[in-house]
Amino acid sequence: MHLGTRLNYPTLAPQQQKRHVMTDSTLSIMQPDPAGLMDAAKLLQAGKLVAFPTETVYGLGADARDDTAVAGIYAAKGRPSFNPLIVHLADQEMGETLCAFNDDAQRLASAFWPGALTLVLPLKPDTGISRLVTAGLQTLAIRVPDHPVAQGLLTAFGGPVAAPSANPSGRVSPTTAAHVAAGLENKIDGLVDGGACGVGLESTIVSCVGAPTLLRAGGIPAEAIAACLNRPLATAADPATPMAPGQLASHYAPNGTIRLNAHTAEKGEVMLGFGPVDAPLNLSPSGDLTEAAARLFDCLHQLDAMAATRIAVSPIPNHGLGVAINDRLRRAAAPRD
Ligand code: AMP
Ligand code: MG
Repeated sequence: MHLGTRLNYPTLAPQQQKRHVMTDSTLSIMQPDPAGLMDAAKLLQAGKLVAFPTETVYGLGADARDDTAVAGIYAAKGRPSFNPLIVHLADQEMGETLCAFNDDAQRLASAFWPGALTLVLPLKPDTGISRLVTAGLQTLAIRVPDHPVAQGLLTAFGGPVAAPSANPSGRVSPTTAAHVAAGLENKIDGLVDGGACGVGLESTIVSCVGAPTLLRAGGIPAEAIAACLNRPLATAADPATPMAPGQLASHYAPNGTIRLNAHTAEKGEVMLGFGPVDAPLNLSPSGDLTEAAARLFDCLHQLDAMAATRIAVSPIPNHGLGVAINDRLRRAAAPRD
């Protein structure tokens, strides 16, 4: 079914967020018509996980402002680490409410959006974007997809949707609804069936923070981007820009030193608890790993705000989301330059 690029979909009124609970929910499969997209948008508004087609691959979407829903993405994919996620938007205007666009970013957005180009830009303050989406960074990766079904869903939802590829971590990216269902059937709430994806490659990622830098090759050739900017792109391998997409998340760590697997705080330490322990900050007093993941980056920022110089962290069980939480804490605890 072809929908044309800009149909006039009804837009959902903003509602209070409901919390997302990870259950073995049955998967609703939605058709890419206005009624189906409205249902899918309602699921997103309720903090649920919805897979949808884009021109690159199927994305696994959640409201980018809802910490618990975003934690659900990591749980569903079984991701062992918190890489920052790409936020999908209906248009550049929404992007400008979230990020600062310099001249390079303006030029690239005008030339390639909607399309398979993701821009990493400075995040504006107080946007409500979950810190789990940015992995605590002050930058945000955004793109406007060029697919009528993705456009329709994003317009109906009317907000930012965080969406990595809709496959279990380590498996091939899905380009049909059947691939998504095969990998994630019992782990997500909705799936919009929009047929096969056209590009089948992931988006090209360019950082416009400082000199324009290619962070990941993808659907739009780097040459086309350089031609548009009238200068070559720096690459993540350049010594001047020592960052690779997968490693960027490691740039955020709290200022204090961290001691892991601590049962009590020693003198001078601030305790970051997990489970029923006496601590000024607790990732999840009830020992819920989804809640702990949702709160992790906020807690790390709060420790900075408290000027904590030494931090003791309770043991976190190393299964499910605990694997990604422990990965992040271990990196934060590692000696720094
Ligand atoms: P995926 O979630 O598999 O589509 O991958 C998203 C990619 O975008 C990863 O390589 C991330 O590291 C990268 N990314 C997302 N946000 C940022 C950011 N703020 N800065 C740099 N890279 C980012
Ligand atoms: Mg992927």
